[in-house]
Amino acid sequence: MGVLVVGSVGLDSVRTPFGEVEEVLGGSATYFAVSAGYFTDVNMVAVVGEDFPSGHISFLKEKGINLDGLERSGGKTFRWRGEYGYQLNEARTIETRLNVFEQFRPKIPESYKNADLVFLANIDPELQLDVLHQVKGAKIIAADTMNFWIEGKREALMRTLKEVDILIINDGEARELAGEANLVKAAKTILSFGPDILIIKRGEYGALMFNEKAIFSAPAYPLENLFDPTGAGDCFAGGFIGYLASNMNLGEQSIRQGVILGSVMASFNVESFSLERLKSLDYKEIEQRYREIKRLTFFEDI
Ligand code: AMP
Repeated sequence: MGVLVVGSVGLDSVRTPFGEVEEVLGGSATYFAVSAGYFTDVNMVAVVGEDFPSGHISFLKEKGINLDGLERSGGKTFRWRGEYGYQLNEARTIETRLNVFEQFRPKIPESYKNADLVFLANIDPELQLDVLHQVKGAKIIAADTMNFWIEGKREALMRTLKEVDILIINDGEARELAGEANLVKAAKTILSFGPDILIIKRGEYGALMFNEKAIFSAPAYPLENLFDPTGAGDCFAGGFIGYLASNMNLGEQSIRQGVILGSVMASFNVESFSLERLKSLDYKEIEQRYREIKRLTFFEDI
C-alpha cells in the first residue's frame, strides 16, 4: 500500500521577483510527500542534520507522513539556495550544500518494504539505486532528477533510468539528458533509456506525457498570484504519483487524470513560498480546481 519516497529534506533560501525567504522548509521529498499525502499513504526516506527544526518534523507528522525512515544524523542539514527571474520557469542554483547527504546510506524500514510504488525524488542517483536494490517488491518505480546530476553523475543516472517505469523531469532537463533541443525527439531518446512513461513539466506552459503510443498535453492552471515556483515539480509528481498509488492503474485515462491532478497540486504550491499554501490546503479545493481545469480545456465540434 502507498508510496515510498526517497529524496532531499532541507532548508531552502529562495529569491523571486516577489520576495525572498531564508532557510525555510524545502527539499524534493518534502514537497513530494506533502502533495502525495492528499491521495495515498506516504513513507519517507531521507536524512536531516542536528540543526533541523523540530517544528518541521511535527508539520510532516501532522500531514500523516510516515517518518520511520527519516534519519537524524550528526552534522548539518541539506541546504539549497536559488533564485528566479520574471521568467519563473527555471531556477538558478546559487549554492547546493549536500551536508548530511554526503555520507547518507538509505536504510528502508521493514514497515516500508511492501509499498507498491517507489518515487525516487531528486537526489544523488547513487542513492536512488541504493534504494531500488532494497525494495524488490515494488510494482511501479518512478523518478525525477535535475541538471546537477545529469551533468555530475550521468553514468549512475543512466543505470537508474534502466530500472524506472516513469520519469518526471522538466523541459530543460529533458533537452540536456537527451542532448536534443526538440522535445518530441528528446522524449523518444529518453524513452529508449528505459522508462515506459515520460512526463515533461514545462512550468507555466503545462506538462506533456509521452509513452510508446501517445502524447497527452495538460495545461498549467492560469494563476493570477504566483510567488515561488520552488517545489512545483515535486508537488506535480506528488499529485500524479499519489493518485496512481491510490488506484494502481497505469491505463491511459488514469495517467491523464493523474497528470491533471499533478498540475492542480503544482498550481497551489506556487501561490506561496515554501509549503505555506499546502499547510492550509483542503481536499475540496483540489477537487474544485480539477473541475476548473476540465472546463478550461473542454471544447466541442460545431
Ligand atoms: P523543484 O520541484 O524542482 O522546484 O525542487 C525544489 C527542491 O529541490 C528544493 O526544495 C531543493 O531543496 C531541492 N533541491 C535542489 N537541488 C537539489 C539537489 N541537487 N539534490 C536534491 N534536492 C535538491
